[in-house]
Amino acid sequence: MKRTHKCGEIRAKEVDQAVILNGWVHRRRDHGGLIFIDLRDRSGLVQIVFSSKNVDLHIQASQLRIEYVIAVKGKVVRRSPETINKEMPTGEIEITGDALEILNAAKTPPIEVADARTEPDEMVRLKYRYIDLRKDKMRENLILRHKVTKSMADYLDNDGFLEIETPFLTKSTPEGARDYLVPSRVNPGKFYALPQSPQLFKQILMIAGLEKYFQVVRCFRDEDLRADRQPEFTQLDIELSFVEETDVIGLVESMMKHSLDAIEKDIDQYRGKTIPKISLPFPRLTWEEAMSRFGSDKPDTRFGLELVDLTDLMKNVEFKVFRDAPMVKGINVKGGEKFSRTDLDKLEEQAKALGAKGMAWIAISASGLKSPIIKFFKPEEINAIVERMRGETGDVLIFAADKPKVVHQVLGALRLELGKKLDLIDKNSFHFLWVTDFPLFEYSENEKRWVSNHHPFTAPHGSWDDIEERFLKDPASLKAQAYDFILNGTEIGGGSIRIHRPDIQAKIFKLLSLSEQETKSRFGFFLEALEYGAPPHGGIALGMDRLVMLLAGMDSIRDVIAFPKTQAALCPLSGAPDEVSPGQLKELNIRSIS
Ligand code: ASP
Repeated sequence: MKRTHKCGEIRAKEVDQAVILNGWVHRRRDHGGLIFIDLRDRSGLVQIVFSSKNVDLHIQASQLRIEYVIAVKGKVVRRSPETINKEMPTGEIEITGDALEILNAAKTPPIEVADARTEPDEMVRLKYRYIDLRKDKMRENLILRHKVTKSMADYLDNDGFLEIETPFLTKSTPEGARDYLVPSRVNPGKFYALPQSPQLFKQILMIAGLEKYFQVVRCFRDEDLRADRQPEFTQLDIELSFVEETDVIGLVESMMKHSLDAIEKDIDQYRGKTIPKISLPFPRLTWEEAMSRFGSDKPDTRFGLELVDLTDLMKNVEFKVFRDAPMVKGINVKGGEKFSRTDLDKLEEQAKALGAKGMAWIAISASGLKSPIIKFFKPEEINAIVERMRGETGDVLIFAADKPKVVHQVLGALRLELGKKLDLIDKNSFHFLWVTDFPLFEYSENEKRWVSNHHPFTAPHGSWDDIEERFLKDPASLKAQAYDFILNGTEIGGGSIRIHRPDIQAKIFKLLSLSEQETKSRFGFFLEALEYGAPPHGGIALGMDRLVMLLAGMDSIRDVIAFPKTQAALCPLSGAPDEVSPGQLKELNIRSIS
């Protein structure tokens, strides 16, 4: 019995038609004389009725259990007005069953597909992923993912980009994470690295004259996992020749708009709300401005609570902690007066956990100011602070005083926490923005050397020829032609204009304290390629898992990946990673020491 229709697509116009449907038993209700089945396929649900008038068929139908796969032949009939189900797109009709074939039985599933409310344990969901993915939400997530990716690929295709694959078995690309290694059987003692990104290959494609490249590509990074990280994740990777920063930014903006237009209906339906339309261009903040106003290089601009610089007001105050600190900043927590002393103590605990020595506060109440620190200030000093922070009755002003890095880290994190606590975040709005002009290098306390903030192929701003002199003078002042793409406080992409001159690229490796020997063995092939006519070029990569997660309104990227791994990098479905036979290890010249 091959299907003639999809379950979720039958409507009143099909009334009186004979249909054959295939699908899964989503729900069954046995009302004695009548057995009702909600039959499900990817398109949705339809109700089937088996009546006891046909005794054999009724007996057969009584054997059905949830998740059985069946074929049903029947007739579409209009439901009586009182039985119409407005919740179901097919709720105006039902199918009276004439014949039934069980295509496959199913064990009692550990996850009830029809139950949208209970969330089974994630290990169960991942182990029985094929059942978990039968749920509406999960299917919708994968459909959304497909549409986002397809709309972006279509946009790029239309704009003359070529989709080109790059190798998985390759050499290490420095993106700042640990590599996954693959031993080579035919080259004993040698290893491939799975790519952390196709960075060098996409640049080589530019040297090869392909001009506009993209790829929806898996990247592999062996790092500690969090809710928005996976050991393998998908990027929409892009590279273009003869471009400047604004060209790449403009391209991504138009592509994003095109994609959002393509999925607009899905998203509204998803969230049961009309999401406000985005307008171009997206705001652009320099890294300095982002850090200074939001204490973050990926600011969530869905709410205010911006940081206010007070350093200049503290130069002569009696309160030593503020007077001697290199930076003092505050946040006016609007309406924060309702916080109890315990709430404030908790915030201070958090501030300390983030590296602050303490967290001072001033509450502005109708009866005056309350604060443990107020006694250290003259009235005019306090007035100046309150005025600068636009403090009003009902507000609480909180402060951090330390090195800029600590102040921003502490207040940036507290700001996010307060935004949530005070319910200031509109979950149904999309705030895209760009952060530009990142520092080219940052000092790694661990490695005791300067390291690239993005990757070492990122072009510096300003003149390249005196890069060494500029570095020696003040490494922290060098800025990169790099840009991060942010949505609702999450980094969803990043890229840069690249160094296309071999001499400058070699100099950068030197400034990063890589020995000539190391540079040659790791990147010699790339430096050589740069010597054969490399065009100016730049690009970007978007993290598709995170982007789709945010568009779908999910909290975990695992909800938008068909077969994700756990936080411990395990695949409960397949049992990977697993031990291998001694024979396999021997073949690879490897001895396990664990
Ligand atoms: N390869 C970079 C990354 O994966 C993106 C880029 O610079 O294009 O973050």
